[in-house]
Amino acid sequence: MSTHADLFARAQAVTPGGVHSPVRAFGHVGGAPLFFARGRGATLTDVDGRDFIDFCMSFGPLVLGHADPAVATAAHAALDDGWTFGACEPYSLALAEWIVARVPWAERIRFVSSGTEATMSALRVARAATNRPFVLKFEGCYHGHADALLVQAGSGLAGTSAASSAGVGEVAHSTLVAPLDDLDALDAVFEEHGAAIAAVVLEPLPANYGLLPQRREWHDAVARHCSASGALLVFDEVISGFRVGRGGMAERLGITPDLVCFGKVIGGGFPVGAYAGRRDLLSLVAPEGPVYQAGTLSANPVGMRAGLATLTSMEQQDGWRILAARTAAFTTRLRDAFAGLSQPLTVVNEAGLFWMHRHTQAPLRTPDGIPADNAAWFRRFFHAALNHGVYLPPSPYEVAFLSLAHTDDVLDRAATALTAAAQEADQA
Ligand code: PLP
Repeated sequence: MSTHADLFARAQAVTPGGVHSPVRAFGHVGGAPLFFARGRGATLTDVDGRDFIDFCMSFGPLVLGHADPAVATAAHAALDDGWTFGACEPYSLALAEWIVARVPWAERIRFVSSGTEATMSALRVARAATNRPFVLKFEGCYHGHADALLVQAGSGLAGTSAASSAGVGEVAHSTLVAPLDDLDALDAVFEEHGAAIAAVVLEPLPANYGLLPQRREWHDAVARHCSASGALLVFDEVISGFRVGRGGMAERLGITPDLVCFGKVIGGGFPVGAYAGRRDLLSLVAPEGPVYQAGTLSANPVGMRAGLATLTSMEQQDGWRILAARTAAFTTRLRDAFAGLSQPLTVVNEAGLFWMHRHTQAPLRTPDGIPADNAAWFRRFFHAALNHGVYLPPSPYEVAFLSLAHTDDVLDRAATALTAAAQEADQA
């Protein structure tokens, strides 16, 4: 048995599926998952000492790369000073002030320990502020695993929902579900439920079912329905926040959300999330207001200092512009290299992230347009890429992430490896 298979067998004995988060189990791609011992820059090294160019990047937080020296220095300093106090400290203040000074719709902010907590808490605030029962989400968007957000479209009329996980129960029905990219469905949900919708929550760059950028008209319609009906607009920028730019998708779209959720990049790779937004809404949160939300390790100093080091480093080196330019150049190169395949591929990119899938004529905006043979193709492609020294996120539905450690030289090697992998996986 290989080292990896052996470790995985041991892990399965003590942990459900051998993992602490499902996609890590390689269920979508087959085989035993790799066990990694360390990461540096754009490289992950497995327990056997083999190096891989990493495009998973811990699913997004590591915008500067693995073990970035500035972030490491900040985290080491935090360890030297003691790593949790459960009391007021200046580190979360510094990060909060940095963000509030730069993101105009984040008038106030509350730190939590994950993206899941951020969306769950923001929606609690929205219900309290509006005194309305429903939240509307979109099919294909993921907002963490709070019970009320583990829902999918139901079989009934516009907006109906069903739990997408066992154990969720009745709370699923407090969340309405509509398809992405469907203006008629949006109208229908608001016509029927508009007065009862506390908040609309969306990934302004849907990136959890592949990368499904939405049309301008759709974004405008969502925003219009929110302001007409009094529902709050909640942008879940857990992936896009501080990745697609300092102002996230809200800035790119020029749409001002009432509440915004952050995670991933904001903690520089440590467990940090946050929800932020209008002053009056954040004032509803305990101890200032009646919405209870707390956390033993909230605003943990290691995460706060690592997060601030990450954001200041990005700002100082014009990191968001560089990341976007490198991603655009890299994906253009992949498109050119893939042009000769017998089964064409599509490469979708937005600043700092990309997704590859079996070709479709029109850009994909909903999960149901993903070609039926995409999953089988991805299994082949993923393993071929591994053999060529590239680690992609182990699922056809997960987007790939770049970091500033993905220099031109790294991307050169990655393009060569992915081109060879695509040729090997190129079957009808
Ligand atoms: N929201 C979005 C858009 C996400 O992509 C994720 C996680 O991938 C979450 C929320 C949940 O964040 P976490 O995994 O930190 O709980």
